[in-house]
Amino acid sequence: MFTVFADMQRLHNPPSFMVAGKPKPMPERPERIDMLLEGVKRAGGRLVAPAPIGNETLALVHAPRYLAFMDTLWERWHRQPEAADTPAPNIHALGRASLAPVGYPDSVVGQVGYHLGDGSCPIMDRTWDAAKASAATAAHAAGLMLEGETLAYALCRPPGHHAASDVAAGFCYINNSALAAEILTRAGRRVAILDIDVHHGNGTEAIFYDRADILTVSLHADPKRFYPFFWGYAEETGRGAGEGFNLNLPLPRGTRIDDYRAALAKAFRRIADFAPDMLVIAAGLDIAIDDPFQGFAIETADFATIGRDLAGLKLPMLAVQEGGYPSASLGANLASLLEGLGS
Ligand SMILES: [Zn+2]
Repeated sequence: MFTVFADMQRLHNPPSFMVAGKPKPMPERPERIDMLLEGVKRAGGRLVAPAPIGNETLALVHAPRYLAFMDTLWERWHRQPEAADTPAPNIHALGRASLAPVGYPDSVVGQVGYHLGDGSCPIMDRTWDAAKASAATAAHAAGLMLEGETLAYALCRPPGHHAASDVAAGFCYINNSALAAEILTRAGRRVAILDIDVHHGNGTEAIFYDRADILTVSLHADPKRFYPFFWGYAEETGRGAGEGFNLNLPLPRGTRIDDYRAALAKAFRRIADFAPDMLVIAAGLDIAIDDPFQGFAIETADFATIGRDLAGLKLPMLAVQEGGYPSASLGANLASLLEGLGS
């Protein structure tokens, strides 16, 4: 098994994000990388570095004006006298769809309100470089799959599945899983994305919501009382040509492995019906019982069970790292999942 990893991903190191109106210490921090690398080491396999990535590749899943905004944000934001260190919205683009394409401002303050979806996508001077390295990691891993690998792991950080085409949110800036799926699809593969992160993959859902050529499935904590709150409901099944090609399986807080596997079996039935020839796993490890977000109660040994269940699909699989935050078991949980996937 190949693991793709870029050291540049460490450059994003924001001190805090907003919870209940206050800045709280950021759990999506560089030490995650070392914990995850420890898991990779335990599972074995070869480590490779990705080639850099350009906007023409990012534009496969992101809007050109979002990329232009991110390219110039730091410099433009800090041209404002007395601006805060970290760009933050003081206005939100509610009803944006009805205004497009006229309601797009030139002001950096207005654009921050347009493109930053919530209080958990802090941006520092090197954030965008780290996000591009994370995207390059996923894209490189997709390339390995096209060369015939049957299992690859992209150690992506910052994560991606809350990023939509023109919105950063939930610690995510570039949608790595969506990018990998799009690259594989354009190369002629039939791809399903299975998102096992404890949070609904709302960015991924949004990117493919109108499409029938990529199936999106997400298992996650019920958004009625869990981030991202506004998306992740079972009623969201896709739109237009994409109707029937999005499956959400919300589960109660505290879900343990038996109920989790029952939901996984439902996901597998839909995936089998779609008949993909490749699976992208949006591999959030924050379903763990000791994850700081406290969504589900999946234990270290359970990750191997989930991995073995996935391996039973007999599909080439690309696992793209999503969430999973510092805890005593984070590395062991990854090792367990990867060992199961490789079984
Ligand atoms: Zn998550």
